[in-house]
Amino acid sequence: MLTAEMVKKEAKALGADLVGIASMDRYEGAPLQMDPRQIMPEARSLIVMAFRVMRGSLRGIEEGTFFSNYSAMGYGGLTYLYMPLVVINLCRFIEDHGKEAIPIGHQSDWRAIDGNGFLREGYSRPVEPGRAAPDVMIHLRIAGFLAGLGEIGYSKVFLTPQFGPRQRLGVVLTEAELEPDPIYNGPKLCNRCMACVRECPGKAISATKTVKVTLAGHEVEWGELDTAACDIAFRGGQVADPDHDSPEYMESLYGKKITRSPITPFYRKPRNLYNTGQAICGGRGCLRACMINLEKRDVLGNKFDQPFRRRKPWKMDWSDTGVSPESQAKGEAD
Ligand code: SF4
Ligand code: SF4
Repeated sequence: MLTAEMVKKEAKALGADLVGIASMDRYEGAPLQMDPRQIMPEARSLIVMAFRVMRGSLRGIEEGTFFSNYSAMGYGGLTYLYMPLVVINLCRFIEDHGKEAIPIGHQSDWRAIDGNGFLREGYSRPVEPGRAAPDVMIHLRIAGFLAGLGEIGYSKVFLTPQFGPRQRLGVVLTEAELEPDPIYNGPKLCNRCMACVRECPGKAISATKTVKVTLAGHEVEWGELDTAACDIAFRGGQVADPDHDSPEYMESLYGKKITRSPITPFYRKPRNLYNTGQAICGGRGCLRACMINLEKRDVLGNKFDQPFRRRKPWKMDWSDTGVSPESQAKGEAD
């Protein structure tokens, strides 16, 4: 018989860093559009795997000299290449034991809800009354919490005691009944230091407004995230001041003109890597500042000989630099 121990051993051998298991009853009360039981009504277990983002993949953004590595190896490549191979191969192992299993990576592009949880207008409709509209979206951070891998920080980023905010999550939904892990109850990781709020270049994480949810009987709270503000700053842009003529950094977003910000050294947004990897911000607040805080407090299992921040953080000064026709032509990215 297939056991949780066998599945975890296989997942780690295949390349996952951490593995946790949630039983489906932990989804009692979940919103219909985010309930994995809508995808597989006979599911008995949700296996959640964490894949670490190398601290080294953040080094080039920290130094301001090598941005693409985080987008490629810490973001897009990890999410769209490495993780699918592991979840697919784990499903092969489970299905060889006669239990159906769905490999789910970071796969929410077809979801029926928008970034704020509302149904996308004119997008899809349920196949019959009472069912969710396709596609259902499994909220990966909530899945990580329900599988006992860690907690959701104030930044809404998932934190584990091994890597802090430095991982991506993949999921396998299966009919196999596996022993679930307890909800994480170790030392508190997020100490509400608010470094994520202070250092977020998009001011996307509210310092005062929060979201509260109950997950498997546990109260969980995080800061309200302005997804549009993050979306812009994440790519190294900022909304142009309508009263001043500003150079265009990328095509307008959310109906607003986007100019370059102090966190990008690029004249224009560089091209996407691995589909969506275009992470210029490099999680300045929610990832790097958070990790620095957690490492200083010595609460993480993945330890390093040297601190991450070794020099004064850089800030780009664009005040004296317009986009020359020459650089504009050279910098055409996509
Ligand atoms: S930066 Fe501080 S407040 Fe924000 S998630 Fe990390 S530990 Fe929590
Ligand atoms: S990715 Fe960047 S812009 Fe988005 S919340 Fe994190 S620090 Fe803020």
